[in-house]
Amino acid sequence: MWVRMRFDIGWSDIAYGISATGRPLDRRRLEWEIRHYWTQPEQMFPCLSVRTGFDLFWSVVGLPAGSEVLMTALTIPDMPRIVAHHGLTPVPVDVEPGTMAPRLEMLEKALSPRTRAMVVAHLFGVIVPMDPIIEFARRHGLLVLEDCAQGFICRGYEGHPESDLVMFSFGPIKTATALGGAVMRVRDPHVLRQMQERHSQYPPQPRRAYLKRLLKYATLKAACSRPICDVVIATCRMAEWDHDQMISNAARGFPGPGFFQRIRHQPPDPLLAMLVRRLWNYDESRLQERIDRGNYLVRLLPPDLERPGNRAQTHSYWVFPILTEEPAAVIAALARAGFDATSRSSLRLVPTPENRPELHPALSQALLDRVVFLPFGLEIPPRALRRMAEVLAGLNNRLTRQPLEQMLPPAPEPMHV
Ligand SMILES: *Cc1c(COP(=O)(O)O)cnc(C)c1O
Repeated sequence: MWVRMRFDIGWSDIAYGISATGRPLDRRRLEWEIRHYWTQPEQMFPCLSVRTGFDLFWSVVGLPAGSEVLMTALTIPDMPRIVAHHGLTPVPVDVEPGTMAPRLEMLEKALSPRTRAMVVAHLFGVIVPMDPIIEFARRHGLLVLEDCAQGFICRGYEGHPESDLVMFSFGPIKTATALGGAVMRVRDPHVLRQMQERHSQYPPQPRRAYLKRLLKYATLKAACSRPICDVVIATCRMAEWDHDQMISNAARGFPGPGFFQRIRHQPPDPLLAMLVRRLWNYDESRLQERIDRGNYLVRLLPPDLERPGNRAQTHSYWVFPILTEEPAAVIAALARAGFDATSRSSLRLVPTPENRPELHPALSQALLDRVVFLPFGLEIPPRALRRMAEVLAGLNNRLTRQPLEQMLPPAPEPMHV
């Protein structure tokens, strides 16, 4: 089976991390090295996770309660949860599946006198062009935040220079993972200083928590490697465990109760050491190769297929989603041919405020209903991609080929009283 779950980290990195948990480390030096990886070191701020930095930002900017935050309608559920925790209202902005960009007409529609900020998520490896969004934000005096958790392409994209907060994640399933950690870019030095001050009062996460994490992901990495994964999947089948569910759970960052208490920690020193190593040693040719592989798979698929991001200008194929009218049938057919695809995504819709049903993100919902993630990555050789494309060609009539926009019922005319 070609599994979809892969961890972008080598055994030597994991060994390095384990040894780092038993060594004295110079924290200030490590932070300096992380900051100096980026073009504007003075704006950079390493922390435990994107969610930690996102939460800190709202604590510091202190928007009035009830302020509205426009958000890309698809994201991990913790992001709107954090916004709401600060007394703010998350408001979804529907995406255009072809470009994965927020639809500008929906931005206009979602705007209200209480709107203060906008969070743009770059999903699946697509980088959304920010100029029109920055222009919109400037016109309406909004803060702009960029969630680059799925869009890290080394120094190929560091966020729009005018964005107020740009977030990069090095969590377990992310590109160049350090099995945790994140880097924020904060434009306003005053906000940055306040974030750092508040952060310095957080308790540091103990080193042994990071050691446990390293061991957990070493086990998972081994379990996902061929041919061990075949045994694991066969065992799951016999025991009637859902391996798909197990993979999704394993990838989740801060499960269980006490969420805010868990994210409000400083990263342990060995995690920072790992982050330094991953940033400075990451082989950028891997990224180019991933992009080439992605473009190769695109050429193998029927040309009129609709895919999230198929009209994107910049796509690094962090994942490879397709759309189908019958996800279960497509996943089953791929599994029979040895390909572990899934429709399970960590993304959810940002909830629509009750009093504004017209903002329901219909295209994002249509995308979630149809999406299937193909197994994809550098471990999968071109011949396996060709085989997978053959299987998909046989399922041709089940794949989505019309832009989702055209499949929606026309919007009802607004009622005039
Ligand atoms: C992974 C992810 C996050 C969270 O990153 P952490 O560093 O794990 O907090 C946020 N947003 C998106 C879109 C993600 O994919």
